[in-house]
Amino acid sequence: MDCDLANPNLDAFVDGELDPGVERALEEHLRTCADCRSTVWEIREFRSLFKASGPRFKAPLELRLRVLNLTQHVRAKPSVPQPYAWMAAAAVLVLGAMVVFLVSAPDHSKELSKEAAVDYSRSTGAEPLVELASADFGVLKPWFSDKVGFAPPAIDLHEYGYELAGGRVALLGERPVVALIYKQANGTLIIYCWPPKQDPVSYSQRSVDDLRVYIWANSQCNYVLVERSDDPKISRFVDGFQDQTAPVSY
Ligand SMILES: [Zn+2]
Repeated sequence: MDCDLANPNLDAFVDGELDPGVERALEEHLRTCADCRSTVWEIREFRSLFKASGPRFKAPLELRLRVLNLTQHVRAKPSVPQPYAWMAAAAVLVLGAMVVFLVSAPDHSKELSKEAAVDYSRSTGAEPLVELASADFGVLKPWFSDKVGFAPPAIDLHEYGYELAGGRVALLGERPVVALIYKQANGTLIIYCWPPKQDPVSYSQRSVDDLRVYIWANSQCNYVLVERSDDPKISRFVDGFQDQTAPVSY
């Protein structure tokens, strides 16, 4: 056996899944080939690393069953070549671990909602606080770029009955963020936004005192919207806004 023949069999060799004849020939080759020995060593290293990091994630029972189900399904399929079967099983485990990580990552949306509600209450008296009074994103964008190094997307709430009154820089989680202030006869609505890379958020909707707070994200921004009226139109806006834009990819 030479390296070209040995290489595709190394994974199965580590797993002890080779036919006895092939296994003997491969062992013979490994005795004389340092390259293939080092590949075998790497495969073993990687697997033990994988095993060692596996149990750190305590998956919910339902997920564990699903992963088991999938991996057994992959194994039962003889048409899948062994290296791919192994890769598929690994991918399922990694995905499972990621899901568990995402599920168990601390949810700071509650904290964020409270901070946004506090900022909203502080800044919306009879006249909402605005640093730059303009309804023109051509004016607002460069101003924000200069202030926080980031220009918000143009968000038009005309069809929902809100006029843009202007913008200011707010602090959420000790981070300067864009605050866009919209007005209608019944009150004020504020949309806070900042780049998603700094701090990914997941969708949430909750009441904080008498305020309604929506949190969502897309590829451009994280958004927090605060308003007082619990306007069903705004719920529709948030839903529509999520649909229009691409989901965040990590
Ligand atoms: Zn070799």
